[in-house]
Amino acid sequence: MEKVVLIKYGELTTKKGNRNFFIKTLYQNLQNKLEGLHVKISRDISRMYIEFEESELDTVLSKINQVFGIHTYQVASKVPTDLDEIKENILELMKEKTGTFKVETKRSDKNFPILSTEFSRQMGGLILKNNSNLSVDVHNPNTTLFIEILERFTYLYTDTYYGLGGYPVGTQPKGMLMLSGGIDSPVAGYLALKRGVKIDAVYFEAIPHTSIEARNKVIELSRKLSVYTNRINLHIVPFTEIQEAIYKECNPEYCITIMRRMMYRIMERLAKKHKGLVIINGESIGQVASQTLVSMSVINNVTNMPVIRPVACLDKLEIIELAKKINTYETSILPYEDCCTVFVPKHPVIHPSLEECIRNEEKFDYEEMIQRTIEATNTIVIREKDKENFEDLL
Ligand code: ATP
Ligand code: MG
Repeated sequence: MEKVVLIKYGELTTKKGNRNFFIKTLYQNLQNKLEGLHVKISRDISRMYIEFEESELDTVLSKINQVFGIHTYQVASKVPTDLDEIKENILELMKEKTGTFKVETKRSDKNFPILSTEFSRQMGGLILKNNSNLSVDVHNPNTTLFIEILERFTYLYTDTYYGLGGYPVGTQPKGMLMLSGGIDSPVAGYLALKRGVKIDAVYFEAIPHTSIEARNKVIELSRKLSVYTNRINLHIVPFTEIQEAIYKECNPEYCITIMRRMMYRIMERLAKKHKGLVIINGESIGQVASQTLVSMSVINNVTNMPVIRPVACLDKLEIIELAKKINTYETSILPYEDCCTVFVPKHPVIHPSLEECIRNEEKFDYEEMIQRTIEATNTIVIREKDKENFEDLL
């Protein structure tokens, strides 16, 4: 008996015009994800099929659980559409089961001589005769045996599992994720990926005020996010000169607001350079002074590019829960300071005025600095399997 994973697309089937593109992208993503394993992937308009080697089942399933665009899946036995073969495999599948069960048959091959309900009844009888630990309950059974009869093959399965949902990564263009070492931004990245958005990550660092450990933390977070996509380009922005200028020239209460306006300016230019359409970040309404609606609006004022804030309306505890689920939390809570925390003023302004920002920004030639900063930005490519330290690449 062969085994095969049957994958249901879920949400993408509602996108009629784009369906083929979605399916093709999911297919490619699964190919990438399962590279190196002994699998054969095929597809049709309603499902994807993964044939695999039994010894690799656990690995295949754990990888499937990291791919967006999968609504549900089953691990099915694939047997020839032959009555004796079907019966034999049904008994094998049901022999360990206890409690109540029912049988559901779907006949895609209308030439099959027995009608679905009749076939379910007959197979139910067969199971009862061979397993005395089972009884029938058609309304609320512990186990439902599904029989799908196709022309050449029949699929048999009992359990359906949920995949990650969402859209396959790459069905949307690229967004630029502002990735700090904190808890919120990796979650924001994950949620954007879930909607099919490709991401590049951008990290602002202020060496020597921030450490190599802080950078490594962001690299590790990128690696953890790369599990959900094929690869992530991480752009490391040397922010020291701009940050020092801000703290030298500007009203201390406005330093954070202005620093974030500079970040947005740089994000927009990096996005244009790397073909990103939107900025994505981990801002959450009201979380800190720079994330009140007034702050957000004054900061956002420097760019027309859409800013997507996937965790804007989540509570911190909800974000933490997600961070734990996607395995970034442990890395995020490592203690290394990033450039925001190093320079935090005592009393950051909560309701900044745009005019005051502009007045402060006129005190130094930030345009030239931004230009230099962009030129000095380093990019590293991060893949799930890359474990080595990236220090020597920089
Ligand atoms: P996080 O929000 O990820 O937990 P944080 O709390 O240190 O980290 P905030 O000060 O809340 O960050 O900043 C809000 C958002 O701005 C972050 O979620 C992130 O998207 C972006 N950001 C902050 N600092 C940096 C940085 N050094 N590099 C890149 N993006 C940053
Ligand atoms: Mg935050």
